[in-house]
Amino acid sequence: MDLATCLKKMQLVGVLAFATVDEDGNPQVRNISAIHYEEDGIYFFTARGKNFCKELLANGKVQILCYTRFKEMIRLSATVKPSADEEQIKWREKIFEEQPYLANVYPGNSKDIGIIFEIKDADVEYFHLGVRPIFRENYVLGKGRIKNKGFEITDACITCGKCKKNCPQQCIEEGTPFVIIQEHCLHCGYCYENCPVQAIVER
Ligand code: SF4
Ligand code: SF4
Repeated sequence: MDLATCLKKMQLVGVLAFATVDEDGNPQVRNISAIHYEEDGIYFFTARGKNFCKELLANGKVQILCYTRFKEMIRLSATVKPSADEEQIKWREKIFEEQPYLANVYPGNSKDIGIIFEIKDADVEYFHLGVRPIFRENYVLGKGRIKNKGFEITDACITCGKCKKNCPQQCIEEGTPFVIIQEHCLHCGYCYENCPVQAIVER
């Protein structure tokens, strides 16, 4: 798996869930399909009157979730910004060309109410639940930053083997200390809660 394949899968799924936070701190999720993909960025269309647009203009934070029929989850976390004024029409026309239904939703000049946002930097998480052991990996778009999650085993490990025996994905290897194979870890926390000497910590 790699970043380009993740973006291609997102494009094939088509309709993605975009999460923002509103002015009251409440989560808001919308399905968006007016999206154009480039190798180095993602562009999407919305209308300036929508709360979605206002929330994006307020702090730019967005999380996009994609789920394939093969049980693959792709989650992209980013800060968005409106595309440059001189590029707005170019990206809008590209999106309308790729998504013909938009001409029905915004006929004629009404599409002028649209605004194009772009994502150039993002942390992309790929999580495949359809294989055993499960597989996860992170990729960076532009200057995105990967945020470590899950657990790791410290030198406090007394090598008792309890975590390895009970891990649902069998993704802990023996050693001094034992080691979690991160790309196969569910982040379920079972090992963390049951280590007899609290040798497992959050990353
Ligand atoms: S349960 Fe804790 S002490 Fe035992 S092997 Fe795992 S990390 Fe080490
Ligand atoms: S968090 Fe869950 S899947 Fe990951 S190593 Fe611990 S028990 Fe295994």
